[in-house]
Amino acid sequence: MKTQIEHARAGIVTPQMTAVARNEQVSEDYIRQMVAAGKVVIPWNHNRKPARIAGIGKGLATKVNASIGTSSDIVDYAAEVQKARAAQEAGADTLMELSVGGDLDRVRREVINAVDLPVGNVPLYQAFCEAARKYGDPNKLDEELLFDLIEQQCSDGMAFMAVHCGINLYTIERLRKQGYRYGGLVSKGGVSMVAWMLANNRENPLYAQFDRVVAILKKYDTVLSLGNGLRAGAIHDSSDRAQIQELLINCELAELGREMGCQMLVEGPGHVPLDEVEGNIRLQKRMSGDAPYYMLGPIACDVAPGYDHITAAIGAAQSSRFGADLICYITPAEHLALPNEQDVITGVKAAKVAAYIGDMNKYPERGRERDKLMSKARRDLDWQKQFELALFPEDARAIRASRTPEDEATCTMCGDFCASRGAGALFAGDLRGDKV
Ligand code: SF4
Repeated sequence: MKTQIEHARAGIVTPQMTAVARNEQVSEDYIRQMVAAGKVVIPWNHNRKPARIAGIGKGLATKVNASIGTSSDIVDYAAEVQKARAAQEAGADTLMELSVGGDLDRVRREVINAVDLPVGNVPLYQAFCEAARKYGDPNKLDEELLFDLIEQQCSDGMAFMAVHCGINLYTIERLRKQGYRYGGLVSKGGVSMVAWMLANNRENPLYAQFDRVVAILKKYDTVLSLGNGLRAGAIHDSSDRAQIQELLINCELAELGREMGCQMLVEGPGHVPLDEVEGNIRLQKRMSGDAPYYMLGPIACDVAPGYDHITAAIGAAQSSRFGADLICYITPAEHLALPNEQDVITGVKAAKVAAYIGDMNKYPERGRERDKLMSKARRDLDWQKQFELALFPEDARAIRASRTPEDEATCTMCGDFCASRGAGALFAGDLRGDKV
C-alpha cells in the first residue's frame, strides 16, 4: 500500500487529504502539493483510521498534542483511558501514549480504542522496559527485539512514532567535548539509548539501520517523528552544540526518509529562552527543507514548577508564531509528578490558547475577526455572544455563574462601576461603527 506522500506525488488526492483541506479551508490541491513535498504530514495508519484527521505543517493551523501514560510508580489503566478521553474532550489534536509501567501492550491498545484521535508513541520505552524485565539490564536490549516492537506497535495502529534516530556516536562526542550540561539529559528515550551505545560500544541501530525503520513505518503509513533525545532540559543548555548536532542529523534524516516515501516530522526542544525560539525554528526549517516541526512547548524559564503549563504556553505561542506546526502540551505537574486528569485538561487548554495566539501572528493575513467580534460583544455586554465566541465556553459560563452580579448586564468585577455600561450610556451607540 502506498503512503500519503507517495499518493500525493502520483497526483492522487486521498480521503485524508480531502479531510485536511476541508478542516483547514484550503484547496485539496494545496494539501496534495504540500504532502508531496513533505511540508505537511497527516498522521494515520492503514490498520487504524482515526476518526479525527489532523494535518500538520505549512499553511495549516498549529496543532496540539497531549501526552499521557503510566509510570513505574503509578499504573492505573482506567485512569490513563480517562486522561486520553479528557485530552480529546479538551481539544487535543493528537495524543501520545507514553507508558513505561505495567502491561504496555494492554495500555496502548486500550488507549487507542478509547479515542478518535491519531495516537503516537515512543517505541524505545517498551523496548528498554522489556530488556530490563527479560535480562535484568536495559543495556542488554537486543536490536531485533527493538525492530520487532516497532513493527508490532505500528501494526496496533500508531499514527505517528517518535523514534530517536538522530543520537549517534558523533552526537555523543559533541556532548563530551562540550563538557557541560546544566540540565543533563532529560529525554527518557535519549538517555537510555546513550547508555546502551556506551555500554555496548555500538552505533545506535535506529541510526545505523535507518532504512529499516523507514521501511517498517512506511508499511503502515505511520509518520516518523525524529525524536529529540539530546534536547535541552535547562535554559542554559539551549542551542548548545550537542542539541544542534542532533537537530542537524535529524534534518538530514528527514530529507532521506521523505525521499524514501515516508511522512516525516522533526522534534524540537525542550527548554528555550524566548529570544532563541525564532532562530531555532528558522534553522530547523532551513536545514530540513521545511519539514513540519513538533516542539515541546518550549518551556521558556526553569523556575516555575506548578505553573509550567504557563511557561510552556508562553514558549508555544512564540514557537507557533515563528512556524512550529505541532505543539506538545505541558501540564502543571511537569517536573513534579505524573499528571492527573485535571492536569491533562489544564495543559491542553493552555496549549490551545498558545496555538491560537501563535496562529494570529503566523497568519495575520487571515484576519482576526473572532477577536473583533468578542471585543464588540464585551463592549455591548452581550454575554451569550461572548460565550459563543470563547475558546472554552463552558469554563467561561461556569465562572460567571459562580458569582452572580446585582445587575445581570454587568459582572461582579466592577459591579456599579461597570465601564462598559457607563460608556454605552455616554455614547448611546456612537461607538458601534466599524473602522473603514
Ligand atoms: S463589570 Fe467590569 S469587567 Fe464586568 S463587564 Fe463591566 S467593565 Fe467588564
